[in-house]
Amino acid sequence: MASGNNQSASARAVVEGFKNGLSRQAVLSLGACVHCGMCNDSCHYYLATGDPLMTPAAKTDRVRKLFKYHVDWLGRVAPAWVGGSTLRTDEDLRALEDVVYGSCTMCRRCTLSCPFGVDTALIMRTARGLLTAQGFAPEGVKVVSKDQWEIGNQMGVSQEDYLETLDWLQDELRGEVGDPDAMIPIDKEGAHVLFLVNPREIKYAPMSLLAAAKIFYAAGEDWTMPSVGWDNTNFGLFSGDNKLGAHMGKLAYDQAKKLGIGKVVISECGHGFRATKWEAPNWAKEDLPFPMESFLETMVEYVNTGRLTLDPTANPRPVTYHDPCNLARSAGITEEPRFLLKRSCLDFREMTPNRQENYCCTGGGGAMSMSEYAQRRLKVASVKADQIRATGAESVATACHNCVDGLADLIKHYELKVPVRNICEYVADALVLPAPAIAREALIPAGLRGRKVLVIDDDPDTVVYLTTLLQDQGLETVAAHNAAEGMAAARTARPDLITLDISMPGRSGADVFARLRSDAELARIPVVIVTGAIDFRELMYKRNVPPPDGFLQKPIDPELLLMTLRKVLEVRHRECVVSETGAAV
Ligand code: SF4
Ligand code: SF4
Repeated sequence: MASGNNQSASARAVVEGFKNGLSRQAVLSLGACVHCGMCNDSCHYYLATGDPLMTPAAKTDRVRKLFKYHVDWLGRVAPAWVGGSTLRTDEDLRALEDVVYGSCTMCRRCTLSCPFGVDTALIMRTARGLLTAQGFAPEGVKVVSKDQWEIGNQMGVSQEDYLETLDWLQDELRGEVGDPDAMIPIDKEGAHVLFLVNPREIKYAPMSLLAAAKIFYAAGEDWTMPSVGWDNTNFGLFSGDNKLGAHMGKLAYDQAKKLGIGKVVISECGHGFRATKWEAPNWAKEDLPFPMESFLETMVEYVNTGRLTLDPTANPRPVTYHDPCNLARSAGITEEPRFLLKRSCLDFREMTPNRQENYCCTGGGGAMSMSEYAQRRLKVASVKADQIRATGAESVATACHNCVDGLADLIKHYELKVPVRNICEYVADALVLPAPAIAREALIPAGLRGRKVLVIDDDPDTVVYLTTLLQDQGLETVAAHNAAEGMAAARTARPDLITLDISMPGRSGADVFARLRSDAELARIPVVIVTGAIDFRELMYKRNVPPPDGFLQKPIDPELLLMTLRKVLEVRHRECVVSETGAAV
């Protein structure tokens, strides 16, 4: 609401922050644009919509008006003459929020086309920071930021869950490589490598961390995971909150210093790499005593020094590569992924354009956490979909977990029917390892047989497929074909795990999930979402209850499904043993 002097308190704070806190680079970018339009076709928002308001210059003009009104010397004398205006009401702030959060993924592609080097992403981040400080940000950004402040990672994973997952993954690693002594060390003092990951790898995509562990094992690396400060992502980069950026950096740096490691290796996350290596040391004012590198660089070194042997016939189908914006444009990492893919896959195909010229996956800038803009994001993703389709590839590799999510959504939306995976997964598939000393366990081990899984899905074919698959693995199943049946079965059958569809007629799976989590008797039953819908990310980011224990997209990959169910069942089993006996298992 506007106050007596016709300006709301929040608007006044944003304006004051803008006038007093602009960096030199932001001033240069705000002052330099001559509206030549050379950057227009760089932006996927403009390319996909043709909307003049979606050109980079039009979007930054919403911030530039403020610059002209309050900073530009001519604008301060005659603001209307230079198109300056200020922010007066909370509605003005919400309109600006819609532009800086909802119409730019801060991909920096337009900056490459600008003869003056106008850094649109910097302008957007500056405005985001001022708005966020006044509470004007998408709900998902607020939730994730709060989790990073309070829990130390963006998915709210408790330390107990984190350590349980690593323990489970260590068992998986031993089975995969056939070595009962294979380790995922935690807090090993003096280790050569400290490995930081994206929380998505702990919560929803453990196969990429398993792949990394396998690669470290094959290379004979002296490595460790930290028990705290393990999240390499940093929402401070997206929200413009430098204090959060410093906090997340310091969590990792302090642990690295405490353990006296040789170097920090950052798993495949574009913004995580950029924030941890380049931005957070400045925000935290840290002069760090150890080097940091991307896992891509580490893997290249292993291959070049003969520590890894790769067999590309393990990945015979055509694969293309999506360059993450934060790696290719903001960090110059373009050749390492190609080096690795050409040695791990038989048929590597370039996307066009590529490297620094590549288009955003549309999930950058924190967009995956902003469910209110999902439809806009998917609309402008047609540019990326066309790029992928033109390659004829049967799978897409990328080097960023955020991009995996962004690409998975658009692949689903545009029915491209290709899987998307991180590079380390292709490399791990291609590893040449000695013959296993121990036999690989069945996907669902004997100790979990007889566990009861409730399958809730309105599609009868899916129910038959899932129940048959699970029964073949020795699991007991109960089926429900709609929300009401599902709730009733959860109460009467008391399953050990629920697989839940999202799109169902009547009450949606999201509603069932909220009711399960809010029911004192049912809240602790693990829930794995198995869905063909693309609006499920709200459950991950815009939550007022703990998020689901797993996510899988249809069409169902049976091995991935069983691996996920196994992880969730085993982790929950260990938690129960610990809580019942009070002892570690
Ligand atoms: S940074 Fe990317 S999304 Fe934002 S305006 Fe430029 S090209 Fe468009
Ligand atoms: S290319 Fe540069 S100067 Fe031209 S409109 Fe874009 S940002 Fe402005």
